Amino acid sequence: MQVVQVVNPATEEPIAELEQAGVEEADAAVARAKAAFPAWRAVTPADRARLLRRLAALVEENGEELARIETRNVGKPISDSRGEVGMVADVFHFYAGAVDKHHGETIPVAGGVDMTFREPLGVVGLIVPWNFPLNISSWKLGPALACGNTVVLKPAELTPLSALRLAELALEAGIPDGVVNVVAGKGSIVGSRLVEHPDVAKIGFTGSTEVGRSVMAGAAATIKRVTLELGGKSANVIFADADLEAAAAAAPYAVFGNAGQDCCARSRILVERAAYDRFLELLVDATRNVKVGDPENESTEMGPLISSQQREKVASFVDGEPLFRGDVPDANGFWFPCTLVEASNDDRVAREEVFGPVAAVIPFADEAQAIRLANDTPYGLSGSIWTENGARALRVARAIDAGVLSLNANTSVRVQTPFGGFKQSGFGRELGMHALDGYSEIKNVFVAT
Ligand code: NAD
Repeated sequence: MQVVQVVNPATEEPIAELEQAGVEEADAAVARAKAAFPAWRAVTPADRARLLRRLAALVEENGEELARIETRNVGKPISDSRGEVGMVADVFHFYAGAVDKHHGETIPVAGGVDMTFREPLGVVGLIVPWNFPLNISSWKLGPALACGNTVVLKPAELTPLSALRLAELALEAGIPDGVVNVVAGKGSIVGSRLVEHPDVAKIGFTGSTEVGRSVMAGAAATIKRVTLELGGKSANVIFADADLEAAAAAAPYAVFGNAGQDCCARSRILVERAAYDRFLELLVDATRNVKVGDPENESTEMGPLISSQQREKVASFVDGEPLFRGDVPDANGFWFPCTLVEASNDDRVAREEVFGPVAAVIPFADEAQAIRLANDTPYGLSGSIWTENGARALRVARAIDAGVLSLNANTSVRVQTPFGGFKQSGFGRELGMHALDGYSEIKNVFVAT
């Protein structure tokens, strides 16, 4: 097998060597998952919940180790990694509690009784990206396991370490061998094998819109179920009647968090012209305060990008002198400064997902134009609306074609609430009770009386 080095993006130094799985290992993992399925689906709801709760507890007990792995492998600030690992535990606690609350119905019909069951799908393939490796793994594993499926999870090439550790914890929790399988390998080989494998019933995919498109096409051959969590180009809409101080203080973290490598990054900052100059002043000051540096430092707020290729791609979006460019450490690591550029919504920086710390600031004249600009994108994942006018906040929220919006806040993800996109940001919902629908099939049974 080919051996690859896993690198710390903050130092460019290798932190692990891993054998790369290929088609054979992917097939073996699917076979293990298939063999484990009948016994796993038969585990009583209370016992399945108990096992998920034990996994949640083990994530908590090993939280600092998992957070360190994530920080060294992804380059994210240690405080962020701790928060994300905390969410992973909460996700397993939530789905432990959900096992026996996602149930069928009885429906009045003529001649008998009609009832529905939620059946597991079988073996599900989970394909995750490198930006939130452990978090996104848990968003898929939690509902998949709660519904009684067995899984083959493929982490991203660059960031396999935390998922591999999580699989060990699943075994330690008592989840039977074969239920959770992690296969680290290339997307074009292991990922696409899972997509085409006849024994895989569903693919839960998070990644780029481009790869999502090929996953959807590949799944057609076996009519596999797919849920797709894809890219975004979200708008942060600031009206002149907003609390400008609060909006400006929060805006940098909504796009420079995770060094901008966030599908929900509010990388188009739309500002009403009447407040444009004042807001810009506040935004530049707030951006200057973002603490960029060693991810293992407790106070760091932004680390490096994931790779040198990513840095090249991000740099290609900045031509000319930006409105503001921050500082980065003068050392090894794939650093890129917080960057603000003034743009029109037609510029490349406003149309494509940058996936780095570059925000486009775009003025608008009035509410109608704000809505038009916010929707003038192929994506529809997330976004924010800042205004003190409650009716306007709801009016604009209803008018923006995106799956997850916040008013006077920039958060997108909560354990209990549905998360997912409109348009080319994908379909299907993760988190909350809604995610369970994507990991089960409704069976309808009629009993003649
Ligand atoms: P990517 O699409 O390159 O890769 C995602 C995963 O797909 C990886 O595990 C990769 O190995 C695998 N893959 C690659 N080619 C494949 C193929 N042909 N068949 C099957 N699998 C294949 O994405 P990335 O660069 O790892 O992550 C960044 C992207 O993910 C961004 O576009 C971002 O917006 C998106 N993302 C979306 C969400 C969301 O929930 N909507 C969350 C995080 C990231």
